[in-house]
Amino acid sequence: MNSLQQARIQVLQQIQTACEHAQRDPSEVQLLAVSKTHPSEALAEMYQAGQRAFGENYLQEALDKIEQLKDLEIEWHFIGHVQRNKTKHLAANFAWVHGVDRLIIAERLSSQREASQAPLNICLQVNIDAQDTKDGCQPEEVGELVKEISQLPNLKLRGLMVIPAPNHPQAFIDAKTLFEQVKSEHAHPEQWDTLSMGMSGDLHAAIAAGSTMVRMGTALFGARDYSK
Ligand SMILES: *Cc1c(COP(=O)(O)O)cnc(C)c1O
Repeated sequence: MNSLQQARIQVLQQIQTACEHAQRDPSEVQLLAVSKTHPSEALAEMYQAGQRAFGENYLQEALDKIEQLKDLEIEWHFIGHVQRNKTKHLAANFAWVHGVDRLIIAERLSSQREASQAPLNICLQVNIDAQDTKDGCQPEEVGELVKEISQLPNLKLRGLMVIPAPNHPQAFIDAKTLFEQVKSEHAHPEQWDTLSMGMSGDLHAAIAAGSTMVRMGTALFGARDYSK
């Protein structure tokens, strides 16, 4: 067994243990492999180990990998900041976009997604712990955004995505509370099933609070080298 296979088995084990502690069914928690900065060869190896869902943050890097790995049945997730002038590429090439935080972004993704494609899965990014950042809408905006975005064609609004400050487990609990509160605003509440939260350093707290998708980079691929 190679080291990437081993790392994946370890992470799946961690998810299982966290689910046991939280008395949750491990099948409720998906593993998203965050592969930014890692070469296509590493993704192909992780794919051979059984991984299908991969998350990327940088559009050009992601488009290169999507082209190089087009023969594999990968489910591509965009988890980076969404710029308004890049939505066309996201609509054309990805299965999921996690960083939607404004109506205009959702409207563009909706109109640029081909009706012949499967609907684009969307998570609303929320700045759940009032960080000093431009990413993510405010918690009090979520209800209205859910109401509007859930009515757009060619999209499937699946839930919320949060990136709280490190060592702040209360933020995951707040995200879960908000997730349950705004469900009734959704035009198709049965589609509201995804709480994207938890990274390599805080998987346990995220799963305890109700995460359904953990986004793991370092624990799967090792430390990232941004110097290249
Ligand atoms: C990079 C990144 C991750 C993965 O972080 P690790 O700590 O390496 O697991 C998860 N989510 C987002 C949004 C990221 O940008």
